[in-house]
Amino acid sequence: MDPNILNHQKEYKLEYKKLLKQLSFGIQEKKLIENLEIPEDAFLPFLFSIKFGGDWSLKTDSVNAMAIKEKITRYNADKMEGYTLEKVFLFLNPRILKETGRVRRLEKCGNKKDREIVERPFRVKVDAERIINAVLDPFTMKITIKDMQGPLIFEGSSAYGISHEMEHLSGSESKGKFLWEFKYILKDTEINKQK
Ligand SMILES: [Zn+2]
Repeated sequence: MDPNILNHQKEYKLEYKKLLKQLSFGIQEKKLIENLEIPEDAFLPFLFSIKFGGDWSLKTDSVNAMAIKEKITRYNADKMEGYTLEKVFLFLNPRILKETGRVRRLEKCGNKKDREIVERPFRVKVDAERIINAVLDPFTMKITIKDMQGPLIFEGSSAYGISHEMEHLSGSESKGKFLWEFKYILKDTEINKQK
């Protein structure tokens, strides 16, 4: 037998196994949506955040849905090893109850070409008609899903994400200065002086 054919068969089998696994992952997702009893559309930001990372929001006629991802690294300094847990929060019809502090920062929205300066609250208190939480554990390879009781408080990058996505949902986007309006400042260094 031509060894090339054998090789192709091997690849074909691997590809087939991968397809089966992906298919069963998709079936799990479908069952999950049924069990949680939420509209399929509302689940999309959640799946995007789980599959591709980052924060997502979706506005339909019936629901505002927003998914926010938080990452927590647990590191054991003695053993010098750890893992990063990912927590995804899905909010159905979210509303911000309180914003505290102002943080000026550069952000890049997926829909836009340039990074721009925006102001975000440092801390937000947010509630929703439904809050569903997923914890992705790369150690156990499990995604644990549970309902959560609001309101919840977020700080830092998840608070910025919430503020960003809420803006998309309300359709009121802030306009700021762009990165290309910055100035580069080259400080005097020993290397410069030598030239
Ligand atoms: Zn955006």
